[in-house]
Amino acid sequence: MLSDIQIAQQSKKKKIKEIAQTIQLTEEDLELYGDDKAKIKLETIQQLKDKPNGKLVLVTSINPTPAGEGKSTISVGLADALSRVGESTILALREPSLGPTMGIKGGAAGGGYAQVIPMEDINLHFTGDLHALTSANNALSAFIDNHIYQGNECNINPTTVSWKRAVDLNDRALRQVVVGLGGRINGVPREDGFDITVASELMAILCLTTGLNDLKERLKRIVVAETYDKKPVTVADLQVEGALALLLKDAIKPNLVQTLEHTPALVHGGPFANIAHGCNSVLATSTAMKLADYTVTEAGFGADLGAEKFLDIKVPNLEKSPDVVVIVATIRALKMHGGVLKDQLEEENVEAIRKGFSNLEKHIENIQRYELPVVVAINEFSKDTPSEINGLAELLEQKNIPYANASVWANGSEGGVELAQKVIEISDQKRETFVPLYDDSSTLAEKVQRVVTDIYGGKEVSFTKKAAAQMKLFERRGWGHLPVCMAKTQYSLSDDPKKLGRPEDFSITVREFIPKLGAGFIVALTGDVLTMPGLPKKPAALNMDIKENGEITGLF
Ligand code: ADP
Repeated sequence: MLSDIQIAQQSKKKKIKEIAQTIQLTEEDLELYGDDKAKIKLETIQQLKDKPNGKLVLVTSINPTPAGEGKSTISVGLADALSRVGESTILALREPSLGPTMGIKGGAAGGGYAQVIPMEDINLHFTGDLHALTSANNALSAFIDNHIYQGNECNINPTTVSWKRAVDLNDRALRQVVVGLGGRINGVPREDGFDITVASELMAILCLTTGLNDLKERLKRIVVAETYDKKPVTVADLQVEGALALLLKDAIKPNLVQTLEHTPALVHGGPFANIAHGCNSVLATSTAMKLADYTVTEAGFGADLGAEKFLDIKVPNLEKSPDVVVIVATIRALKMHGGVLKDQLEEENVEAIRKGFSNLEKHIENIQRYELPVVVAINEFSKDTPSEINGLAELLEQKNIPYANASVWANGSEGGVELAQKVIEISDQKRETFVPLYDDSSTLAEKVQRVVTDIYGGKEVSFTKKAAAQMKLFERRGWGHLPVCMAKTQYSLSDDPKKLGRPEDFSITVREFIPKLGAGFIVALTGDVLTMPGLPKKPAALNMDIKENGEITGLF
């Protein structure tokens, strides 16, 4: 089997203008970045406003394990398979961050014969969105420090500045820094820190905004610090929302690329799924829904985090909820949920699949709790045995859950036809139901409670003294109507990454809340959340190279 990059390099790309034509867009609608990437103009998006929406397919998964699940791969393969069976389809995915690309993650553009291209560009600087976000983020830091230095009219207490600097790399040495050293002319010293750009509030804002005016309103609401008398200081107080919006004017336009099989793909926005909501941009998803009969999109991490946030945070900003939710599961990952160690995954073990099925079953129940139809995609790996696949199929049949085997990684769209047909059949039947998890009017405590008991399957939630005091304060400040964005480990339904399968009787402690008023949610921290990852001992970067002729190697 060829590597992802070899497959991508051997493929024959079409000009992006041709891809655009297949969804009725002309060159007038595009801003070209070379001949294989383009941004869609905001005027075009505006003109599409009154068109009816096509169907929306959300791809999510069981709790991730080191065995790998393949949500992006299945999303790409499903979009190609829908195109193959004659449905007009657009894929809407997140754009990768350089930090994990250079670190351990590998590409985030799908895999095998289900990829988006040009994968080298998409995985590296792409159309510069992340650099624009980094610049806007750091411009705001500079405005804050300058404000303090130049007389501090807003009465900012420098020890309370919560707005951090950002860089789109894994760099643990920057987690905590001191700025303003070097005497009076170099500013006012204070502690600061760096987040990876994709963990910044600006990335979450870019992904939830519906246009430039909305962007400015969201930017204004960002809380950056407190005054000496403990009042929030916002971007509106600093009067820099216009400058920040200007820096983001191109980054908010969705990027158009293609899959290996020439399905149009909007790859745009990529917020972390812990500190933020982990979904691609609202502008890209809603544009795709106007232009195609089927939009296939993905939510980060497992369904307890990604799909919950898609449904409770993103959907209120979209015009519609998903018509069908695809839950990706692999034999390997279910075996791990059933207690098998990583080095024993190659051995056939149907019993472990039966045990690990409990994890998949909980995610199915959760999506059904929103009254949305589910189909399970079994992402086939070459080492899966027929008895293991049949074992899983039997369990799904017993519970009356629609499923399909998918071998898109090995076979491209051909391996996804069964899944595509299931998706079409189920989305055709869909009733207009969607039952959100909670109302805006519930208190913050009630919202967290709902997520913990209904989605995670926990017994109870407790709040530290700090978190309890913050809830009162935030509700007094009028922020209580916002949804909660849970920051929790992705590996377990509980807050303990070692509890695989379907843990029960656990309680979860919220230790702190962080207001993200620009994004429009309140983050609830349930453990230590890393907003600036580090590199491993042998980063993926060690394998990367570029030859004299421009050929890139080692990008997975
Ligand atoms: P996710 O979106 O869930 O993080 P990806 O789709 O990015 O997962 O896949 C993670 C890795 O697993 C990629 O390197 C991809 O090539 C690989 N992968 C996915 N599906 C398969 C498969 N069926 N067989 C082998 N490798 C796969």
